[in-house]
Amino acid sequence: MSPLPYQSAHEELHFINRSGWLRAAVLGANDGIVSVASLIVGVAAADPSPTAVLIAGGAGLAAGAMSMAAGEYVSVSSQSDIERADIARETAALRDTPEEEERELASIFESRGLSQATAALVARELTEKDALGAHVREELGLSEVHAANPLQAALASGLTFSVAAAMPLIAAVLAPAGQVIPVVVGATLVCLALLGALGAQAGGAPKLPATLRVLFWGAAAMAITAGVGRIFGVSV
Ligand SMILES: [Zn+2]
Repeated sequence: MSPLPYQSAHEELHFINRSGWLRAAVLGANDGIVSVASLIVGVAAADPSPTAVLIAGGAGLAAGAMSMAAGEYVSVSSQSDIERADIARETAALRDTPEEEERELASIFESRGLSQATAALVARELTEKDALGAHVREELGLSEVHAANPLQAALASGLTFSVAAAMPLIAAVLAPAGQVIPVVVGATLVCLALLGALGAQAGGAPKLPATLRVLFWGAAAMAITAGVGRIFGVSV
């Protein structure tokens, strides 16, 4: 499956074929930055010792990357299980009741606006060419573009989580003593703005709403964890 934008016979570009891995990658990166930055800010608010901050950040990165990859693998695997079971059912129906299946295909085209005669002709020709392919595409709505690929999704989100989560961690390491929170918050907001714009660019969507969205939720997450960390810091 090529991540390049799909170019149809005429001019306009379509980005829909990027949606699968793009969604996993942006989700993984966003989660990586926000969860590890919030963890670092929360721990720094409770106990400023540099070691505690690095341990929390490193553990958060490892745990988050593994859970992200595992979660994506499990959820996409169950989706591909469902798709495979549907395709097996379709294969059996085509073997056992081919005429009925062809009528069903024709009725799908009729419901999309074709005349009865044209729909029957299209169904006939598609059935002759590749009956299963036609039913999988037209009836189940599955296509190459959206084929669930658990390993790809798991790797994409685990990897992007790790790379993204390393940003606030590096900022925490490089921050002057006592400046961990402002440096990590600043670096994180810059990274989130870049991620929002990049994700929108790759998906061919408007940049500003996407950027503001990730900035707002990132800032909210860090503010809340800093508050919780402050409360714990005072009470410990
Ligand atoms: Zn069918």
